[in-house]
Amino acid sequence: MFKDLKNEVVFWAQKAENLGLVVPTTGNFSLRDKDTGYIFVTPHGIFREFLKPDDIVVLDINANKIEGKNKPSYETPVHLEVYKNREDVFGIAHTHSPYACCFAVLNRAIPLIHIETFFSVGGNIPIVDFAPPGSKELAKKTLEKLANRSAVLLESHGVLTIGSSLSHALLVAIMVEETAKIYHSAIQIGKPKKLSDWQVNTLKEILEKI
Ligand SMILES: [Zn+2]
Repeated sequence: MFKDLKNEVVFWAQKAENLGLVVPTTGNFSLRDKDTGYIFVTPHGIFREFLKPDDIVVLDINANKIEGKNKPSYETPVHLEVYKNREDVFGIAHTHSPYACCFAVLNRAIPLIHIETFFSVGGNIPIVDFAPPGSKELAKKTLEKLANRSAVLLESHGVLTIGSSLSHALLVAIMVEETAKIYHSAIQIGKPKKLSDWQVNTLKEILEKI
């Protein structure tokens, strides 16, 4: 069952690896079905290159397995907590993209320096203090920092993004990596300027009109 939704998870998970946002078997991806509320998540420890639709694990919001022969990703408890607490979220991407990880291992948030980051993330990219992967503690801290953002960095670990679909969450993950790359390069040659309140307000006005 659910062939289309499983295919969608496989497609975007493989796309993320092809774009260099994750290396084999790291990171994880999920979506929430609008009809059933079930969560479709990538399995633990399978090379994405060989991922098949039937490898995707289907769970209810309380982690009861509906379908699937594999173990769900180790980070699934964090995905489930985000879905439980955010009715607007229908896709989650967790990546270890290299430039963003530079700032994650420095435990440093990425300031709002580029207009596209405002449009995709909603502001700066905050950092979530370390908590064990897959733990309730990590989920709680992540939810707090997500607030009105669609992406966070996880200390010493990676990136988590949310969206109105899995493709949307992946697009945010791409923009996070792009921002991190720009910030990384900019700080080699100078001090990048943060967007001012006036600039942010102007962007908000543009966003309201789109
Ligand atoms: Zn990870």
